[in-house]
Amino acid sequence: MKKTIRDYDLKGKKVIIRVDFNVPMKDSVITDDNRIKESLETIRYAVDHEAKVILLSHLGRIKKEEDKKGKTLRPIAIRLSELLEKPILFVYETRGKRVEEAVNNMKNGDIVLLENTRFEDIDGKKESSSDAELGKYWADLGDIYINDAFGTSHREHASNVGIASRLPNGIGFLIEKELEYLEPAINNPEQPFTVILGGAKVNDKIGVIENLVHKADFILIGGGMAYTFLKSQGKEIGSSLCDQENLQFCNEILSTYCDKIILPLDSLCTKSLESKEGTIKTELDSDDIGVDIGPKTVELFKKYLEISKTIVWNGPVGIFEEPAFSKGTKNLLEILKQNSGVTILGGGDTASAAIHFGYKESMTHISTGGGASLEMLEGKDLPGISIITEQ
Ligand code: AMP
Repeated sequence: MKKTIRDYDLKGKKVIIRVDFNVPMKDSVITDDNRIKESLETIRYAVDHEAKVILLSHLGRIKKEEDKKGKTLRPIAIRLSELLEKPILFVYETRGKRVEEAVNNMKNGDIVLLENTRFEDIDGKKESSSDAELGKYWADLGDIYINDAFGTSHREHASNVGIASRLPNGIGFLIEKELEYLEPAINNPEQPFTVILGGAKVNDKIGVIENLVHKADFILIGGGMAYTFLKSQGKEIGSSLCDQENLQFCNEILSTYCDKIILPLDSLCTKSLESKEGTIKTELDSDDIGVDIGPKTVELFKKYLEISKTIVWNGPVGIFEEPAFSKGTKNLLEILKQNSGVTILGGGDTASAAIHFGYKESMTHISTGGGASLEMLEGKDLPGISIITEQ
């Protein structure tokens, strides 16, 4: 068990909280503020316990000066202030005199938000390569460090490991909740344990398959990645997604675990991704593109899902962003809704599909971290969490 924000007396202390404000934006307008809302519980707790709260977050990727455009955290400071009904002092810099003055002038319960931590990446990737001097600079601003950015915990950055290694530390409520659901589901699942994998690329999920194939009773494969598996068995997949480099991996894992890895029986096929309509087929023609699982596959997957006590799902089973190709993903969401066991969704796209189609409240847990939850499923340690002191 990791130390948490509850393990510290916060009164009068400068508490640095690494939050995940990496929200989608269009023309400097926030299009989905879910991540800001997810961070409120920890921030409110610190404010209510009279801490001086210093918030750090990244937004997007910054490689050169032009990338800064539209990546300031200012709109987030405004939205956060509305949500908390409290003023937030936003500092347009990541370090320097203005930052130090703002921090030194704080009173108990005040909140300061610094500029996008990735602005430090322009000159030598200081944030992303966990530059020691930057980690020390930020650590020197505070007394206690709390990591609540699950989405970046699989990376070793100055704003997580760099600070945590230099200050008394803990996790916030968001990470605590992620670990509470993900750890037992992956390490000690109630069986039958079924994993659904989808999405575009086989390559991203190889580590997950290799780790979970020993623990899961069944792995149901859909989405674009299913076609590489089908092709490795000599099936015609037309112009569907195919990951040539991983055909051999698919073939080998299928022959070793043929009773565990379950592939689609049919697909919704189209001739062009622009056409927005498709035909259900069990055998594809050479010019077909498979864009969703078909009804026979839904029925097949349902048989495994109905008997499962733990279900972990990563990757949509079709191009769900297009309404005409979203039925398979929606049908599986409905099947999971009816399941009384533990249902956990990970990965940015699976989470947005569930939220978009109105299934947020029907799942046991929807992980906020795409890459981070994938690495947990791969059985890897997350450096941003490993660095946090045990209780
Ligand atoms: P990933 O990031 O690998 O989980 O991939 C998610 C993406 O996979 C989503 O944007 C889906 O639209 C896409 N996807 C799912 N099924 C298919 C498919 N059959 N063909 C192409 N893309 C797909």
